[in-house]
Amino acid sequence: MIAQHQTPASGTLDDDAIGAFGERLRGQLLRPEDAGYDPARQVWNAMIDRRPALIARCAGASDVLAAVAFAREHGLPLAVRGGGHGVAGKAVCDDGLMIDLSPMKGIRVDPVARTARAEPGVLWEEFDQEAHAFGLATVGGVVGTTGIAGLTLGGGQGWLTGKHGLTLDNLLAADVVTADGQLLRASATEHADLFWALRGAGANFGIVTSFEYQLHPVGTVLGGMVVHPLDRAVDALRFYRGFAVAQPDELTTYAVLLTMPDGTPIVALITCYAGPLDAGERALAPLRGFGTPLADTIAPIPYTTMQALIGGGYPHGRQNYWKSGLTGTISDDLIAAAVEHYGRVPSPFTAIAFADCHGAYARVGRGDTAYAHRDLQWDVNILGNWADPADNDRNIRWVRACHDALEPHLSHGVYVNDLGDEGGQRVRDAYGANHARLVALKNRYDPTNLFRLNQNIEPTV
Ligand SMILES: Cc1cc2nc3c(=O)[nH]c(=O)nc-3n(C[C@H](O)[C@H](O)[C@H](O)COP(=O)(O)OP(=O)(O)OC[C@H]3O[C@@H](n4cnc5c(N)ncnc54)[C@H](O)[C@@H]3O)c2cc1C
Repeated sequence: MIAQHQTPASGTLDDDAIGAFGERLRGQLLRPEDAGYDPARQVWNAMIDRRPALIARCAGASDVLAAVAFAREHGLPLAVRGGGHGVAGKAVCDDGLMIDLSPMKGIRVDPVARTARAEPGVLWEEFDQEAHAFGLATVGGVVGTTGIAGLTLGGGQGWLTGKHGLTLDNLLAADVVTADGQLLRASATEHADLFWALRGAGANFGIVTSFEYQLHPVGTVLGGMVVHPLDRAVDALRFYRGFAVAQPDELTTYAVLLTMPDGTPIVALITCYAGPLDAGERALAPLRGFGTPLADTIAPIPYTTMQALIGGGYPHGRQNYWKSGLTGTISDDLIAAAVEHYGRVPSPFTAIAFADCHGAYARVGRGDTAYAHRDLQWDVNILGNWADPADNDRNIRWVRACHDALEPHLSHGVYVNDLGDEGGQRVRDAYGANHARLVALKNRYDPTNLFRLNQNIEPTV
């Protein structure tokens, strides 16, 4: 007798079909009863607890092609995991097929051409280490355990954004498995419309099996943080906004309300100058000269040390609930609301970040990539983060109340990679004027919405 597995979307899956699928894979196919299933379904945000019917741990593009075909043929919901850091937890689903790319770790740096190819299971700390061996880097996320895949396909803000734009501005080409089961190479000259969509809305258009990036010479940077106590945060943030709008491209500076390990609430002005160190000293002099900081750690450091500066605060396994919005100006009212709310924060791991995007980022046209919000310098993100699930209600309430207070002082625009499950309007807000073109491309590349477990652009055909 053939054993059958219930899945809501497909009705049943028989053992023979599952067995044949498993044999097609170079990687592993995991069922709930298999060793390794539980670790494989876990993602960074411990609030997400979903149980796929099957997990395909892919070893290469052929496995991804087989997995997409299997999901399509059996009508299975399909979730795609890169680094698993997405706060919304879209990398894992209940009952369907989880396509786990995390075993795909290849990285090849070409130091002469200053390019790198990397597979979608690579994390930023891995990518940075390989590129840094040649004194090179691309724009990467500021926490090393974040995946290159989801971050690149949604945007990619980092310490080099002022100088080199978003990560997706440094994407030269991508290999993509599309909904109809092809492997396409997308670049400025091949499937250029798909390449446009991948740069900001990538998760909706296929599964990227290889990324090719432009690298830049980045060895030692001038980086670190200047720290002021929360009771001086209003003045520090007013100073910061003036400083940040006048920064050269080489300098990118975030302001973050956070709590030190000893319980002291602070505002940290975290900064990275990627250029000649003497020019960096001059550019940073006003920041270092402002007020009487509790600490000033700015020094010449390897770029990889800069990239490791704040990652320790974001371990796997905590509860996370975020809300965010973009803004082109930091008003006095926004500062007052953020500082006032942070004074009542229920978790010492929670932060409010003002992530700075300017310079090269702002010189890309709004319609040049699917990422739309080039005129908005700051991503204001309320990063709710706590350890004990028993505290969920209290922390979620605080994040929502804080967002309610900040929202009138933010634009409608939002960064797609910050979104939780916030509904279709927020997805439209993420793409602004580019949303209509994305719907037209979704109609063409994925009319049945096979790739829908993401911040979804719904087809209209
Ligand atoms: C601690 C922390 C720090 C962060 N820091 C930054 C930062 O500095 N800068 C920044 O811009 N963002 C940052 N982010 C946000 C980050 O960009 C997103 O969480 C991003 O989605 C992470 O990518 P991932 O591959 O790890 O996530 P996943 O959860 O694996 O994937 C996220 C989405 O992308 C899809 N996806 C993944 N891989 C592929 C693929 N190969 N092809 C198609 N779709 C795919 C998934 O299905 C999912 O919908 C941070 C997030 C966290 C949790």
